[in-house]
Amino acid sequence: MILVFFGPPGAGKGTQAQILAESKNIPHLSTGDMFRAAIKNQTPVGVKVKAVLDAGELVSDDLVNELVAEEIKNERYNNGFILDGYPRTVNQASFIDALLKEQNRPISVVLNLEVPKEELVKRILSRGQGRSDDTEEGIRKRLDVYHKETAPVLDYFKDTDLIKHIDGVGSIEQIQERIHAAI
Ligand code: AMP
Repeated sequence: MILVFFGPPGAGKGTQAQILAESKNIPHLSTGDMFRAAIKNQTPVGVKVKAVLDAGELVSDDLVNELVAEEIKNERYNNGFILDGYPRTVNQASFIDALLKEQNRPISVVLNLEVPKEELVKRILSRGQGRSDDTEEGIRKRLDVYHKETAPVLDYFKDTDLIKHIDGVGSIEQIQERIHAAI
């Protein structure tokens, strides 16, 4: 099963993807985590993307697409996986959609976590993970980028029956239950 967690920054994608990955025993692939690890380890990719992440902007489609395509060649992705934070643009969506179809393992479901904007800002500011992009300005920028570049991904999938809308307000357990009911 290939699941995509979709939604604005602060919607709880990472938390829910992690829980679901453990319960289904499949890998959780977060492009944001991938970039943060690369930055921490000062790899060539990390050096290249640091300023982009700090500014709350998006890494180029070509780079993200290539990294994800490489990563999922790994055997551990053979029994399915969870994508978190990817695809984030229409270009990425059409790339991964086509690639996975070509590999005879199409996307199974797109879980759209819905959370009102005021709640998002509150959550991000209180998550206290010390992320260098979690400043008021960084958050505003990422929400802006989400509306302009990422929300259109929903349109890309709208003529399929892949999208499940999940109310993302509530306790972690409540949201987990809604996700289980939807898939
Ligand atoms: P996240 O942890 O998903 O909030 O991602 C943190 C940051 O990593 C984003 O603000 C972007 O700068 C970068 N990033 C993560 N995933 C992607 C993606 N699919 N496309 C472009 N940039 C990304």
